[in-house]
Amino acid sequence: MNPCLGCGACCVSFRVDFHPAELSGGTFQWDTGVPPSMVVRVTDRFVRMCGTDVQPPRCVALVGNPGSEVACSIYASRPSPCREFGPEHEACARARRRIGLPAL
Ligand code: SF4
Repeated sequence: MNPCLGCGACCVSFRVDFHPAELSGGTFQWDTGVPPSMVVRVTDRFVRMCGTDVQPPRCVALVGNPGSEVACSIYASRPSPCREFGPEHEACARARRRIGLPAL
C-alpha cells in the first residue's frame, strides 16, 4: 500500500502555495485544475490552499484522519507543490514526527 494513504502529515503541516494558472480555468492545469473555492489569494502570483495557513494547519482538500486513513479529494487536480513532495524529502520525516509517526 502507498504509505501516503495512511499518513497525510504533509497536508496538515505545510503551507501550500502555487501559481493561479493551476486553478480551474487557468492557463496551466493538472487534470481540471484546483477549484478556486479551495484557495485564498496571497498575491497576483500566488494562491494558497485554504486551511494551510492556520494553526494547526489542515488543507481543505484533505479527507480522513491523518496517521490512519486519508485521501486528497482533488488528487487528480492537486497543485504542483503536492505533486513534487514525497518521502524522499527531509520535510516528510519532520511532518510525520509532528503527528507521531516514524520516518519512512
Ligand atoms: S491539495 Fe491534496 S495533496 Fe495537497 S495538501 Fe491538500 S489534501 Fe494534501
